[in-house]
Amino acid sequence: MTDALPKTGLRLFNSLTRQLETFIPVHADEARVYSCGPTVYNYQHIGNMRAYVFADTLGRVLQYKGYTLTHVINITDVGHLTSDADEGEDKMERMAAREGKSAWDIARFYQEDFLRDLARLNVQPKQHPRATEFVEEMIDWGKRMADKHCYALESGLYFDVSTVQDYGRLARAVTEDGAEEIRGRIESVEGKRNAADFAIWRKTPAGETRQMEWDSPWGRGAPGWHLECSVMGEKLLGFPFDIHTGGIDHREIHHPNEIAQNQAFCGCGGLSDAENSGARMWMHNNFLVERSGKMSKSSGEFLRLQLLLDKGYHPLAYRLMCLQAHYRSELEFSWEGLGAALTRLKRMVMQVERLTDAAAGNPAHQKFAPALEKFDAAMSDDLNTAIALTALEEALAVKKVDAGIKRAVIERMDGVLGLKLFDLARTDLRIRPAAAAVTEDAIKQALTRRTAARAEKDFATSDAIRDELTAKGVEIMDGDPLGWDWKLA
Ligand code: AMP
Ligand code: ZN
Repeated sequence: MTDALPKTGLRLFNSLTRQLETFIPVHADEARVYSCGPTVYNYQHIGNMRAYVFADTLGRVLQYKGYTLTHVINITDVGHLTSDADEGEDKMERMAAREGKSAWDIARFYQEDFLRDLARLNVQPKQHPRATEFVEEMIDWGKRMADKHCYALESGLYFDVSTVQDYGRLARAVTEDGAEEIRGRIESVEGKRNAADFAIWRKTPAGETRQMEWDSPWGRGAPGWHLECSVMGEKLLGFPFDIHTGGIDHREIHHPNEIAQNQAFCGCGGLSDAENSGARMWMHNNFLVERSGKMSKSSGEFLRLQLLLDKGYHPLAYRLMCLQAHYRSELEFSWEGLGAALTRLKRMVMQVERLTDAAAGNPAHQKFAPALEKFDAAMSDDLNTAIALTALEEALAVKKVDAGIKRAVIERMDGVLGLKLFDLARTDLRIRPAAAAVTEDAIKQALTRRTAARAEKDFATSDAIRDELTAKGVEIMDGDPLGWDWKLA
């Protein structure tokens, strides 16, 4: 392997065709990727974050192969209902009501938390458009599709899935009768022509107001969730773009609906060639699960990245844990597994410490050729990160070689894996719950004590509590107009 990296030969699994395909960019030397982002009504759990570690790894591999990457991870700040099938309440409005804050503030708060988690996991900077910034464009899309593909009901504008060819083909990647399964599972809104029809625009019911609503030809209301991703993908990346990613749950409803809209938008209705589905490839990561089953935001100890940090684990140990499994395999979370990943990361960091003084040389050295070839072959084989990690360890184990050359090899591999091996010190990787023991509960308790002290004009105690929290990285926000009590500095 030389410095001139090959630009072909990357094989990726396309859920749409259910096979491995060689990546051929739509635009020469470029890769344009759209990854469905989170609905920011709550914190993300580490399962959600697996989806972004996968998307980031894909982006890094494309860059390593020499493509200039444009990568969007959107922020869904309106439109996603409690069911993916477009039924139930608006997630944002429901959380706003529960927390006594405005839906806009909720969105900002959880968006910031999400971006912080991405940075902790060393996810490279991406574009993060918010759905609420694209409402005009969504209305334009709706107008363009309305005559041929949509119909109006009292509750809004609906997309008729029978107006496009082969609706649900993506879902059939899961089961042969995927589309039928979708149809069977979705509750019906009265008047829908097909059970799988979904809302393009949801009208605010008469006599009600929503916090997030806009005027449209179909009444005052809010856009449907599926429409957002179609519109942001088209506006920011152009159709067709290269790769659309998401978790496997999106293979069943959200992405089939996006594809149906994209077909309608292209004016073709058909799916005869991949161009019409908006993206050439659709890729899906499998789930992170808990031993007890599906990961959820309500059950027991909510598995957030912050909880891992509170327990003293470095976030990159979680990134490594994700990379140890293939993205298309289910991964079971356990604290033992996370601990093992932390130990493995520490071992790598200790080996890298010996190289930090050396200036990076030329990685093209015969001693490293087998490891570099293995690494390239593994990553080219549908992102086999588990094997790529062993190639990295083999490179780390090469003896009697110039430190600068070794450094260059390890940097090249780590640039793709994103473990920050040259930035970490072994002391960062000690499990130290004591140092990280500032949990949300502890903060709230401290703030309650501080409020009581202030009520009694005991400012010494109040200041002491503030200093204690500041030392733990918690900034108290007295008199914040949005009503937040604190934030992490
Ligand atoms: P949501 O905010 O629900 O749209 O989820 C954000 C992303 O996380 C989507 O791509 C989901 O498919 C993905 N996702 C949700 N749960 C999990 C999980 N347990 N493991 C991996 N990915 C998940
Ligand atoms: Zn999406």
